[in-house]
Amino acid sequence: MSGRKILIVEDENKIAEIVRAYLEKEKFGVTVADTGEKALTVLKEGFSLIILDLMLPDMSGEDICQAVRKDSDIPIIMLTAKSEEEDRIKGLGIGADDYVVKPFSPRELVARVKALLRRVKGASDVLTFNSGDLVLDSTRFESRKKDSPVVLTPTEFKLLQCLAEHPGQVFTRLQLVNVILGYDFEGYDRTIDAHIKNIRHKIEDNQKKPSYLKTVYGVGYKFTGIPDED
Ligand code: CA
Repeated sequence: MSGRKILIVEDENKIAEIVRAYLEKEKFGVTVADTGEKALTVLKEGFSLIILDLMLPDMSGEDICQAVRKDSDIPIIMLTAKSEEEDRIKGLGIGADDYVVKPFSPRELVARVKALLRRVKGASDVLTFNSGDLVLDSTRFESRKKDSPVVLTPTEFKLLQCLAEHPGQVFTRLQLVNVILGYDFEGYDRTIDAHIKNIRHKIEDNQKKPSYLKTVYGVGYKFTGIPDED
C-alpha cells in the first residue's frame, strides 16, 4: 500500500529530518529527496502525498509541481520561506493543494498532511478491482468494466457496492435484502438471486465461473474481486 508513504522534497537536511521524525511517529513511511531531480526519479515508487520545498538547488518547487501534475493528481503541500500572498496564490495555481510557510510547527504540518489525505480520500470514493478491470464510483453511481460503462440499476449498484466494500465477507440473502430495502423482508430474499444474476451478466467474463460474485451454497454471496492498491 502506498497509502501511508510520504515524499519530502527538501534540501535543508535539518528540516527534512524533523519532519521525517514527526511523520514516522505517526506511522507514515517517509522518503527524503534533497534535489528536484531525485524527487522526480523516486516518485515512480508511488506515494500518497508530497511535501515540497519551494527553493531547491537544482529546480524550483513550482517546476517540480508542474512536472508532477502532468500525469498525477497526488496531493502536494508546499513549504516556503516566502510568505507573500502572491507566492501563495501562484503555488496553489500550479497545483499545490496546501501551503505552509517557514518557520512552521512540525505538528501543524503533520495535521495538515492528515487533513489533506482525509479530504482526498473522501473526494474520490472510487473502488477498483482486478487491476482496473472493474471500477465502482459511488459518488457518481457509475461503474465500468474493462473501461466501458456498465449500466446497473440503483438496486444492482447498491448490492454490488455493499459486497465490494467488504471483499471476502459472506452476506446472507436476508442481509442483502436489508441493504436494498433497509429492513428484513423474508418474502423478498429470492429476488436477490435474480439481482445477482443480472449483475453477473454485466460484470463477469464467465457467468459459470464468476470472479467477482461467488455463491456460498446454503448461505448467500460474497465478493471475491481483488482491490487494487492505490
Ligand atoms: Ca530549500
